[in-house]
Amino acid sequence: MNAIPPIPSGPAPALAGAPPAAPLRDPFGRAITYLRVSVTDRCDLRCSYCMAETMTFLPKRDVLSLEELERLSSGFIRLGTRKIRITGGEPLVRRDVMTLFERLGARIGTGLDELTLTTNGTQLARHAEALAACGVRRINVSLDTLRPDRFTAITRRGRIETVFEGIEAAARAGLAVKINAVALRGLNEDEIDDLLAWCGERGHDLCLIETMPMGETGGDRNEHYLPLSLVRARLKQHWTLSETSYRTGGPARYYDVAQTGTRIGFITPMTHNFCESCNRVRLTCTGTLYMCLGQDDSADFRAVLRAGADDAALEAAIRAAIARKPKGHDFVIDRRTQAPAVARHMSVTGG
Ligand code: SAM
Ligand code: SF4
Repeated sequence: MNAIPPIPSGPAPALAGAPPAAPLRDPFGRAITYLRVSVTDRCDLRCSYCMAETMTFLPKRDVLSLEELERLSSGFIRLGTRKIRITGGEPLVRRDVMTLFERLGARIGTGLDELTLTTNGTQLARHAEALAACGVRRINVSLDTLRPDRFTAITRRGRIETVFEGIEAAARAGLAVKINAVALRGLNEDEIDDLLAWCGERGHDLCLIETMPMGETGGDRNEHYLPLSLVRARLKQHWTLSETSYRTGGPARYYDVAQTGTRIGFITPMTHNFCESCNRVRLTCTGTLYMCLGQDDSADFRAVLRAGADDAALEAAIRAAIARKPKGHDFVIDRRTQAPAVARHMSVTGG
């Protein structure tokens, strides 16, 4: 992997004081202001809904260097991206990933409004302070259960204590933590009340996600698919939920929880089409840009970068890709073959 030179202190001179760029618009008039960047397909866990136990990871030469990831991200910032979320795989297992946070963090206020992270939390205890120092203010930590044995079963290997320690370290470092939980029939559906109470006690918002049919996992996802409309109806029996207009720039619909003073969000790609307000695109760790999580059309930016494109050529390639953003997705599982609607894994595209 290429070494990254030390970060110069202060704002980048060429950008200091520059007004943020007008955002790119797709053919449907949506402003594209949010980039999710997957920095690795590797992970120290093997969540059963996300990847197969015997997952084969990409050869390192296929993965963009941190410099390449930064260069691409900078191109997007110049074209109006205001928010970047670093994801994976597990982003915090990538060696030297903090140099990317430092470099992108230096762009906050000079084009970028927010730099965030989605993590499984296992490495968070040792990175929380540094993330805060880089300007990260909010992070998402994935946690589907509070029970140690269940956690190890769902992740096929993890120890829940490391995640609890990571969440505590993040809170101490002043990071706002939102907990993401995939709602799974027969696996954690009896724990959603507990998760909400646990989050409420600690001041964390909770965001529930429906399982999406992405990539082979070696199991039958249908078996664990749980519609969030059902979960919400169950929660309303014990909690007072009132819909709010609060948004974080992502696809979740939020409700205030009267008893806790925190919020609960629902991400429902399977039961509710959220495409009309889509403001984001996803970059994989190999430099493939997916204009839609649920469609296969993509643009190969690794080829663009490695062909020696200058900034103007890079920006032209970004504009051309955004011009191909589709109207929306339609996740369906092929009933005959049970094949997932989208062959690539969430860990490749970046959740
Ligand atoms: N490893 C990090 C983590 O787990 O937070 C970041 C990457 S992970 C792919 C991002 C999010 O996607 C996690 O909250 C995870 O639960 C979710 N996810 C993974 N596979 C999914 C699937 N098939 N359906 C719905 N959510 C999924
Ligand atoms: Fe790893 Fe995140 Fe996928 Fe779990 S959901 S296997 S933690 S990438």
